[in-house]
Amino acid sequence: MQNKTLITLSIAMLATGFAGISPAQTPAPAQAPAAQAPAAAPAPLFATRKVDGTDNVYIFRYQNHQAMFIVTPAGVIATDPISYGRPQAAKAYVEEIQKITKAPIKYLVYSHHHYDHIAGGKPFKDAGAIVVAHRRAKERLAALKGLDVVIPDQVVDGKRTITLGGTTLELIFTGRNHSDSSLVMFLPKEKIIFAVDFNSLGAVPSRLAVNDSYPLEWEASLKKILTLNWERQIPGHPGPGGRLGTKKDMEEQLAFLTDLSAEVKKASDAGKCFDPATKDVRLPKYGTLQGYEQNIEWNIHRWCGYWGRGI
Ligand SMILES: [Zn+2]
Repeated sequence: MQNKTLITLSIAMLATGFAGISPAQTPAPAQAPAAQAPAAAPAPLFATRKVDGTDNVYIFRYQNHQAMFIVTPAGVIATDPISYGRPQAAKAYVEEIQKITKAPIKYLVYSHHHYDHIAGGKPFKDAGAIVVAHRRAKERLAALKGLDVVIPDQVVDGKRTITLGGTTLELIFTGRNHSDSSLVMFLPKEKIIFAVDFNSLGAVPSRLAVNDSYPLEWEASLKKILTLNWERQIPGHPGPGGRLGTKKDMEEQLAFLTDLSAEVKKASDAGKCFDPATKDVRLPKYGTLQGYEQNIEWNIHRWCGYWGRGI
């Protein structure tokens, strides 16, 4: 479990309201009598931890979102402010960084343009960070003019390498997937990637359903990511028990997408989309994946859309 090396645990205990995945540092519930109504286990509102086996890579989690940041002697590379509707998250994030290092925050990199991950960048900008994102993320954000969204200063098309204080971070666009602006952030020395919203860990993807996802290109994108030499993935939402992702998780997700796509195409060709395909198409092989029951119909719906109109 990577958070054995937890170095900072910011305590802002919430009695209620946090339904995110409990990090391992949350004490196990006491052996309450079974008859008692299940009380929500108090969970820290946010927490920062260093990734096992590294001396420079950290995860900041706030409720059910998380971001990677990298600390080097020459400064910090932060990612996703994760502060949509909660500016206090970015403030806490910056304070957490400043507890670890006095080095300046040099960069803030957006994983993609969705507000739940990138709103709230002002404290980073105020601290002097250069904001970097994919070119289309900048275009979309400039058009939306969100009040709490900092427009990127610099853009990436295919790839950019940031080198800072002995750390190399590659920002790689592997094609459209969960969005049309996703950057995979790859630390080649540490063999870690930060990839957000398009690789579910042991689960049926819940984010395939959104209208701006690109199902077929998503598969191609995963294949490209699998060719990179990484071993662990930091996800944008905590994995089960706070664990990091593996190539096996990504291969499983790719296989699920490929198999479901093929089954839904058959249904579409037989004129069964959207109904009865959403009820009839099932992949029992993947039935043990988390969220199978809740998400399978949405996934089928999205593929039906694709196979019926090409987007
Ligand atoms: Zn997203």
